[in-house]
Amino acid sequence: MQDTFRHQGLRKRLVQELRGEGIQNEKILKAIEKIPRHFYIETVFGDDAYENKPFPIGRGQTISNPYTVAYQTELLDLQEGDKVLEIGTGSGYQSAVLAELGADVYTIERHQPLSNKAKKILNHFGYSNVKTFYGDGFKGLPADAPFDKILITAAAPEIPKELLKQLKVNGIMVIPFGEGDTQKMIRIKRLDNNEFEKETFSTFTFVPMLKGVVD
Ligand code: SAH
Repeated sequence: MQDTFRHQGLRKRLVQELRGEGIQNEKILKAIEKIPRHFYIETVFGDDAYENKPFPIGRGQTISNPYTVAYQTELLDLQEGDKVLEIGTGSGYQSAVLAELGADVYTIERHQPLSNKAKKILNHFGYSNVKTFYGDGFKGLPADAPFDKILITAAAPEIPKELLKQLKVNGIMVIPFGEGDTQKMIRIKRLDNNEFEKETFSTFTFVPMLKGVVD
């Protein structure tokens, strides 16, 4: 696969579109302009990769649309060097965006083939600051906790208690919450050991966050 001038042009157009939809963080827009999204999705959709749409990535899962990726990343308020836990590696595209922003990324996927494929592509692009894990995101990564930020990229039926425990004080969790067709984007800040603040944002559609692993 190649990253052609045409692909680069399409990415510039996509960035303009995201700006028009209200994404303001220049670092995020720069990452989206840089990352060849067509490498992360099924090749048959090659040229459509820069439409603002989700795409199938196998196993009935989808890569989130670029607006959703940008929106969730903005809410995380990333700082250089932040230790970030991502639930739902999927294609690896969101992990690449976090890595471009200087985060130290830990990402979990419950479908082994997706996890393997994402690991391969993230290695291909030299993202040594991304560690991929095959496992159940509801459990998080107790051995690597605590995290500055936790990003959930699947529709959560509940706020996973184990993940709240793995969030640093002053840390932020971004989570699409709710079962059914749509979810509300929620941002949770850990103010103190037992004190959390919750804000509610726009409505999105995600594939469900499910328990257990699939090999
Ligand atoms: N961040 C991804 C979005 C993928 S869609 C990207 O940029 O492509 C959400 C992913 O979450 C799916 O791949 C799904 O298999 C995964 N997922 C759902 N429940 C999970 C869980 N409990 N633990 C880990 N991954 C999970």
